[in-house]
Parts: sequence; C-alpha cells; structure tokens
Amino acid sequence: MPRAVVFDLDYTLAVPTRDRATILREAADVAGGPALTRAEYLEAHRRNLTRETREPIFADLLEGRETDADPAAIAAAYRETIAETLEPLPGVEGMLEELGTDYRVGLLTNGPVRAQRDKLATLGWERIFDAALVTGELEAGKPDPRAFEAIAAALEVEPTASVYVGDEPEADVYGATNAGMDAIQVLLEDGPDPDPRAVAHVDQTEIATALPDILGTLE
Ligand SMILES: [Mg+2]
Repeated sequence: MPRAVVFDLDYTLAVPTRDRATILREAADVAGGPALTRAEYLEAHRRNLTRETREPIFADLLEGRETDADPAAIAAAYRETIAETLEPLPGVEGMLEELGTDYRVGLLTNGPVRAQRDKLATLGWERIFDAALVTGELEAGKPDPRAFEAIAAALEVEPTASVYVGDEPEADVYGATNAGMDAIQVLLEDGPDPDPRAVAHVDQTEIATALPDILGTLE
C-alpha cells in the first residue's frame, strides 16, 4: 500500500468556473495589452515554471509586440480573476481529510509562487495538506524529477512509496512515473486520452468517490 498520495491542483482538485481563455483576454484588456491566446500563454507558462509571480510569463508574451502594457498589471488582473473563479471539484475536501487517516497527503503544483499560493488561500486549503509545494519555490517544475523528489522529501516518504494524481500526460503522468512514483491520471471530458503509463485512470467528476477505492487496490 502506498504511504503518500500527492495531488496536482488545477483540473485535478479544482476547476475554474469561467473559461481561462476569456479570463486571459479580459486581463490583457483591463491592462491595455494586446489579445493573447490561451495556447501562447501555456507556452510561456512552461518556460517560466520556477518564478515568483506571473509577471515574467506576461513579459515573455509581450516581447516584440507593439504595446506599452505593463506585464505586472496584466499578471495582477489575471491572478485576481483566476483565484476568484476557482472552485473545488465536488467532494474533494472530504476526500482529502479522509485520506489523511491512511496516507500522508501532499500537493505539488506547477506555477509561480504568488499565483498558486493565492489559489490555495482562496480555496481555504493552506492547511489541508501535510505538505504543499509550488514549483515557483523549487529548482525545477514538473515533469523534472526534482519537483517530485522535493514533495516526497517534504512528506518524509520515498518517491516509490508515493502515488501522484494529476491530469496532464507529460507534466504529471510521465513526470511522476519517471521519478519512481505510481501515477493515477485524472481524465477530463474533452481529453487528453488515457495514458498507458498511469496505473489507473479516474474521471474528473468522480475523483472524490472513486479515488479512495483505487488507492486501496494498489500494492
Ligand atoms: Mg492539472
């Protein structure tokens, strides 16, 4: 039986109640910036996983464009709306508390420190985990094994005694299995497809009811 269960945050335990592409467009608009696409944002996010704030992500996005918009202003507008619109998936708070009786329970989330810590504060989840790490505080983000090793160390367990639960094939499933953890993939309605590297898969809407039983079947 695994000793620790580590969760991804976005789309695994909590979801934005409004479309992120819209929030991005509005934040850029409020700060007088150009139209930014979600795909461009995700590219820039991947290049900036160990930052303190989202400002370098937006600075990256604005580079070479004709605009006087302040990346910090766009980052602030984006952060406020994202944190406000984030909601836990049904039942996950009770599930996290229950899992705490049998396992060490952790969180490892990719992104800037301010952005991800704000989300945890808005959700009221600062103390729900035995350890919670934001890659902005670390040497490297997921899928780098150092990120997974850091959360295992914070939980005082070996990576091989840990299970990671997340929705992204590369960052979560590959990252965790490459670091020696088992991975359980959370499946979203519109993809991506189930990744064979995961030991199990769970539909996003059923995570709270299905995950405890799945964990019970693991060696
Ligand atoms: Mg995620």
